[in-house]
Amino acid sequence: MTAIVAARYFASSGLFAWISARRVPGIHDRLGPQMRREIRWSLVSAAIFGIPAGVVAWGWQERGWTRIYEDWSAYPLWYAPVSVFLYLFAHDTWFYWTHRWMHRPKVFRAMHAVHHASRPPTAWAAMSFHPYEALTGAVVIPALVFLVPIHVTMLGVVLAVMTVMGVTNHMGWEMFPRRLVHSKLGGWLITASHHQRHHEEYRCNYGLYFRFWDRLCGTDRGLSPNA
Ligand SMILES: [Zn+2]
Ligand SMILES: [Zn+2]
Repeated sequence: MTAIVAARYFASSGLFAWISARRVPGIHDRLGPQMRREIRWSLVSAAIFGIPAGVVAWGWQERGWTRIYEDWSAYPLWYAPVSVFLYLFAHDTWFYWTHRWMHRPKVFRAMHAVHHASRPPTAWAAMSFHPYEALTGAVVIPALVFLVPIHVTMLGVVLAVMTVMGVTNHMGWEMFPRRLVHSKLGGWLITASHHQRHHEEYRCNYGLYFRFWDRLCGTDRGLSPNA
């Protein structure tokens, strides 16, 4: 499972790093040593993410653990998109509060400084976490599959959204159209220009997918002018 996570990382970060270099030539030209560090930390994270994922995948296949289902008729069809939203919202909530906690000075130095050592981050920073931080992230989806029913295809959708947003939020430019980012709906969603601001100013914009918690708690400072 660790190998799969690592392969997914190389495929997604590699793809968006390549697109970044074509879209914005020279964007990260002088960040070679930093990108190598990002890749090294990300591979350590892949090893950590792989362990609970592997246990859950085995338990699901061999032991019938988890609430992952394969028969579309097991739940009403409308539940399929709802389950994706529930997973993303639960993940976002967990991320927001653990992320805010990791910005306390002592915890920051121990767990989160690695992620912020990327200045500015690149597509390779998607999984560039200290092992302690990787642990906090690695348990979320494996815990949710025991609690919230989800069709295996929809779980794939959740993982795809997680992967693509994790990478693109760090690549330093906005891939979504201005019309969406600046729309009413865009005001609730996190894309590159929102997370970029977190990396610029640290004490704001803590969310992962949605701006719900940031807006509710007054930590939303809006979009970065630089992405
Ligand atoms: Zn980040
Ligand atoms: Zn942070």
